[in-house]
Amino acid sequence: MSARLLIVGPQGSGKGTQGVRVGAALDIPVVSTGDVFRANVAEGTDLGLQVKSIIDAGDLVPDELTSAVVRDRLAQADAAQGFLLDGYPRNLAQVMHLDEFLEGRDEKLDAVIALVVPREESLSRLTARAAEQGRADDTEEAIATRLGIYERETAPILDVYGTRGIVDEIDGVGDLDEITARIFAALEARGLRPAR
Ligand code: AMP
Repeated sequence: MSARLLIVGPQGSGKGTQGVRVGAALDIPVVSTGDVFRANVAEGTDLGLQVKSIIDAGDLVPDELTSAVVRDRLAQADAAQGFLLDGYPRNLAQVMHLDEFLEGRDEKLDAVIALVVPREESLSRLTARAAEQGRADDTEEAIATRLGIYERETAPILDVYGTRGIVDEIDGVGDLDEITARIFAALEARGLRPAR
């Protein structure tokens, strides 16, 4: 079954973890712009060199660059039957880019999973992850920057998708498996079921 999904949530909402689970169950590739950028930084590619300081500061990579990365990835064969986007689009300009790209393929998003996690909870999870993983963008300052960008620029995209009737708000607090079950219940209500 084809499913074209987007998972949205503040940093520390668990969207990465839940996105991987949903992608595996529906047998669709997860396209995480954050992962693509981090892999490029790790490999020292031109793209990686271009974006490293932006990512470390917790700022957004320019829209054109980010949208080009996503277009390239979605053009690969494994994304023809569906995909789950994690971390893109992140502002209204990127929503317009994605709309245009999908329209050109006669496709549209089937559902937007919006993980709802209070700011305090996101903050404490990110601080814990900083201690465990030492990600360069998990400094206190970068975390504050990222949460601010989420609230100002990313949260408004949910209003746009909301008017299309495709947003499922999921309570992102609680046991990981329970949250996954909430997501699947919402997707099933839209007729999107795990492949096996
Ligand atoms: P994430 O793993 O989704 O939190 O992304 C890590 C970082 O990659 C972000 O803080 C941004 O610097 C960059 N990034 C990821 N996705 C985007 C996007 N859609 N637009 C701009 N920058 C992005």
